[in-house]
Amino acid sequence: MTSSQAQDLCTACGMCCDGTMFGAVPVEEHERSRLSAIFDLETTDGTTTFRQPCPQNQCHRCQVYDLRPSSCRGYRCLTLKALDAGEIDIDEGARRIAEVLKAREAVRAMMLPGETLTAARLRRKDLAADASRLPAATGFILALTALDLLLDRYVREQDLQMFKAGVS
Ligand code: SF4
Ligand code: SF4
Repeated sequence: MTSSQAQDLCTACGMCCDGTMFGAVPVEEHERSRLSAIFDLETTDGTTTFRQPCPQNQCHRCQVYDLRPSSCRGYRCLTLKALDAGEIDIDEGARRIAEVLKAREAVRAMMLPGETLTAARLRRKDLAADASRLPAATGFILALTALDLLLDRYVREQDLQMFKAGVS
């Protein structure tokens, strides 16, 4: 895979910046002062983050590319790692990302106005515990869970997976 093929895949995707995969991006201590001019930083239990969807993500392009935090700089999703290792070719990489994006669009059609995926995941938890939920709510739970299973399979590393193997 060439670097331009990886760039094309990321430009068509953008899921690690738009809130599909992460609710927040961690910031290193030495980056805090520099990044506080760009992001609304929050510190909880000694960990500093900014929330996703990232405000610097415009049409799948980072508006602060040269200034982006180290956690963005070094990030490679499972599909990019599989491409780097030669385990899959670029067509399979594109197919995987397209499959996840299709599932994400199905979920988006069921989200509330202005709702983020982080908020949608919290709503799923509440709806799953509600025995009187309507059939449409069950459809939403299933669609979001299908998306999370695809993200775990093709994109998120094991320590970030929502449905880790062997965890009930
Ligand atoms: S999820 Fe993977 S392919 Fe998509 S933008 Fe992030 S690194 Fe690129
Ligand atoms: S700073 Fe750039 S690379 Fe990092 S999450 Fe925002 S848009 Fe993505």
